[in-house]
Amino acid sequence: MKAITVEPLKPGTARLEDIPEPDLLNGSMLVEAVAVGVCGTDAEIVEGKYGWAPPGKTRLVLGHESLGRVIDPGPASGFKKGDLVVGIVRRPDPVPCPNCAVGEWDMCRNGQYTERGIKQIDGFMSERWRIEPEYAMKVDPTLGILGVLLEPATVVTKAWEMVLAVGQRSFWEPQNVLVTGAGPIGLLAAGIGVMRGLDVHVLDRVTSGPKVDLVKAIGATYHSTTVAELGFEPDVIIECTGVGIVIAQSIMKVGAGGVVCLTGVGKGGAAVGASIADVAAAAVLRNNVIVGSVNANKRHWYKASEALAHAKREWLEPLVTRREKPENFKKALARESDDIKVVIQFSDI
Ligand SMILES: [Zn+2]
Repeated sequence: MKAITVEPLKPGTARLEDIPEPDLLNGSMLVEAVAVGVCGTDAEIVEGKYGWAPPGKTRLVLGHESLGRVIDPGPASGFKKGDLVVGIVRRPDPVPCPNCAVGEWDMCRNGQYTERGIKQIDGFMSERWRIEPEYAMKVDPTLGILGVLLEPATVVTKAWEMVLAVGQRSFWEPQNVLVTGAGPIGLLAAGIGVMRGLDVHVLDRVTSGPKVDLVKAIGATYHSTTVAELGFEPDVIIECTGVGIVIAQSIMKVGAGGVVCLTGVGKGGAAVGASIADVAAAAVLRNNVIVGSVNANKRHWYKASEALAHAKREWLEPLVTRREKPENFKKALARESDDIKVVIQFSDI
């Protein structure tokens, strides 16, 4: 079967190639790939900056944002042939740490977790893949190809859960939320915020184009100013850019008793003119919390699948802006200015 593979940490090694049928070790359920979303992590792996091949192998099958159709559910899996499913990405570490032991692999303490398509387990960019039924999540069949948005939606679902968990520390009735960054994560965070009945604001750099239109379609307000220039103090900020200046301004701008949830992963950049002590003082004097959030466990996967099933298709559909064939995977990985979510489509739906 055809698969998109890469030799991790070696740039320029990604290729579409023939590989053996999926290994039974990866699970009793056999799935036909429909589509796989691409994100910054995939691009980093292809650029040789990240990634681990499975033990004893040199190449890794890429892809962690899956959507597939069950070919063979295997024995007593609870799934049936034709079900649309998405594969959970992370597996608990083998020790296991206390969090992995209770199913909170998203909160793994020792870093020895593994991840499909990223860390030591083959991913989903192959014509067929196998999965353990307990790590497959059924998606609403009416979502069609939009089911490929489930993995990014789980990241958002966990971020919202973190915000609400922090909010429980005192009396708290959040009215408005600012989402920084109108990429797939930011737009899904905004959509779920609107579904929660909040007054949602989205901030990004562009002044026109599909992102601006989509924010309006979601029912949120678009801003192209800086965070510092905003005319209000948000109760919640969900930070999805990973950009230093945006993060610093978010921490200074959030209202008293507010929560800043960091989901973007950046690196380096210029110093932003706010000292750590100043940023910390802003948090201390207003009882604010800055919380980081990554990955998701099965509860988030289930909640995200419910949220997607109930989300309006008018704003979900425009999130998938480009579909490429597997042979054009390099084109899929190269960012174009109007891209939101690009997917590699393996079969029709
Ligand atoms: Zn662990």
